[in-house]
Amino acid sequence: MENNAHISGDWIRDLIWDFISTSPHNTMRNENEEPAWDDALVGFASGADTIWQLYKEYVGAFHWTPWEVFNQHCPGESAGAEELTVVSWILPQREAVRKANRRTKKYPSEEWARIRVYGEEFNVALRRHVANSLAERGHAAIVPMLVSNWTIVNSARFSYASSWSERHAAHAAGLGTFGLCDGLITAKGKAMRVGSIVAKISIQPTPRPYADHRTYSLFFAEGTCGKCIDRCPVRAITEAGHDKEKCRQHLAHTRKYVEKTYNFEGYGCGLCQVGVPCEATIPVKAAREALERGELPPPPPPLA
Ligand code: SF4
Repeated sequence: MENNAHISGDWIRDLIWDFISTSPHNTMRNENEEPAWDDALVGFASGADTIWQLYKEYVGAFHWTPWEVFNQHCPGESAGAEELTVVSWILPQREAVRKANRRTKKYPSEEWARIRVYGEEFNVALRRHVANSLAERGHAAIVPMLVSNWTIVNSARFSYASSWSERHAAHAAGLGTFGLCDGLITAKGKAMRVGSIVAKISIQPTPRPYADHRTYSLFFAEGTCGKCIDRCPVRAITEAGHDKEKCRQHLAHTRKYVEKTYNFEGYGCGLCQVGVPCEATIPVKAAREALERGELPPPPPPLA
């Protein structure tokens, strides 16, 4: 065991890539045992970043800071906020999976439903693998989504919200901004799944290459698009935003369809994540080009 070995951002990126390439968990469990994932984006945020406090004010006091969740679950390893790093990753949906779901009008494609279940099982294994690999090298780490008291709570502003949001962690780690349907638009688009861990390591934070939390959304940045409104089969998306309760009810209904049609216990939807301009890229040209140049995009004009 390499106790307290120096850990770099590149080491963690390689760890995640190796797991994608070699883990037997990386499977859709279909006839051809196709991989669930073949790509990843990785970002880092400091536990001392002021954005965590802003989440408390915006999402709710129940939303943990990295310091809160780490010190609750690593009592023998207390750490100051500045000693913690949040590692966040995006697993972009493969083209074949996006293409299959693009064709659907009400229920998910078999490929999408398999990713929702088996692709997420891989994501759970990846969270554990990253945390355990760091712990083996002497760096305590926890998985906020897997701690015993992670929960969903009612929220006046958002219907309901959770004590740790993977998408908010990814936003803090420079990986994307939010769209009209609440999805996170990343450099590889909105069709993706996301994961994170909190560790007692020091890694240079990834810069947030956006002016605000909606910079990559055509609807918010340019007042156009809104294509996800029409993609949603249950009208859970309007110009006013995302109705989480309607969305949740539709997701629950998909269970019966998936079991009857594809013969496995699964569910899913994600129709709003495909067949839209932000499916696999940042659709706001100025923001996309600024990111490619490593610059901040211009702030969006105020909406009329
Ligand atoms: S996941 Fe499905 S039900 Fe939920 S908002 Fe998107 S399209 Fe609508």
